Amino acid sequence: TKEMGKNSFQFYFPELNQWSMQSLILENKLHQALEREEFVLLYQPQLNLQTGTFDGMEALVCWRHPDRETVSPSDFIPLAEETGLIEPIGEWILRTACWQNMEWQKAGLPPQKVAVNISARQFNQLNIAELVGQVLRETGMEPRWLSIEITESAIMQDVQKTRVTLRRLQEMGVTITIDDFGTGYSSLSYLKQFPIQTLKIDKSFIDDLPEGSDDRGITAAIIAMGHTLGMLVIAEGVENEAQLDFLKGRGCDKVQGYLYSPPLLAENLAEMLARGSEA
Ligand code: C2E
Ligand code: CA
Ligand code: CA
Ligand code: CA
Repeated sequence: TKEMGKNSFQFYFPELNQWSMQSLILENKLHQALEREEFVLLYQPQLNLQTGTFDGMEALVCWRHPDRETVSPSDFIPLAEETGLIEPIGEWILRTACWQNMEWQKAGLPPQKVAVNISARQFNQLNIAELVGQVLRETGMEPRWLSIEITESAIMQDVQKTRVTLRRLQEMGVTITIDDFGTGYSSLSYLKQFPIQTLKIDKSFIDDLPEGSDDRGITAAIIAMGHTLGMLVIAEGVENEAQLDFLKGRGCDKVQGYLYSPPLLAENLAEMLARGSEA
């Protein structure tokens, strides 16, 4: 899309031209969506396997397009990243997740940690620690109730900058989770140096458990390694009892997935909070 206007090659590649047009239209719609407040955060609860209780949640954005079906983040986050719109959208997500958490706390519901996804561009191009500090001050949320989820590739892009950013977040009291762990290329020596509290095993390793022999090995190794480094390990995309049993057997700390709950609207998550922490 960046080439449009400068180049006329789109005339020779009708498919490319059409794709460019579509992403331009989508980019405009994303702008409007932000102004018209069409984004919604859903919250997926996490289960602590040690205690068998509700233990934190992940905020997941979706786009409620007025005359279309709800658009999943995989269909617009990549374009938002590419165009830079992820910065205002991501700021809205962070602010909304913290604001919602505080609303629940003010209503007297038991506090729970909320994990917010931060995309690579947000992490590397923005002063994310400053933004987090600002949002925490604005909303009055204590830092210990916030966790930041970032991918391995995001933290490995500029390790010098990562070191500074993660240290500032740690000093504030915000926790760091490495998302989709095992799918990227992070170096163990950096993992050890960075103040990371949680590893989240990617769903692709969980899908074929407990049969897939590679996945069994990889999952067990990630859990053991995380524990060796003093981290908590959470598995995402857990859909059935057999997967849960395997993960329990290997000492996984927490799970998140359809088996326990899909992502929920804020009002439904509030009902879970109100029921207390029993699963
Ligand atoms: P992710 O961070 O790995 O999120 C997990 C995805 O798996 C979510 O899809 C969630 O709804 C889905 N999921 C959870 N449990 C299960 C399960 O048991 N089975 C299956 N099949 N799926 C499950 P979603 O909401 O479509 O998000 C997709 C991706 O979009 C996320 O992957 C994340 O990379 C990105 N994303 C979502 N929300 C945000 C956000 O607020 N900010 C940013 N930067 N990215 C986001
Ligand atoms: Ca995530
Ligand atoms: Ca993930
Ligand atoms: Ca994933």
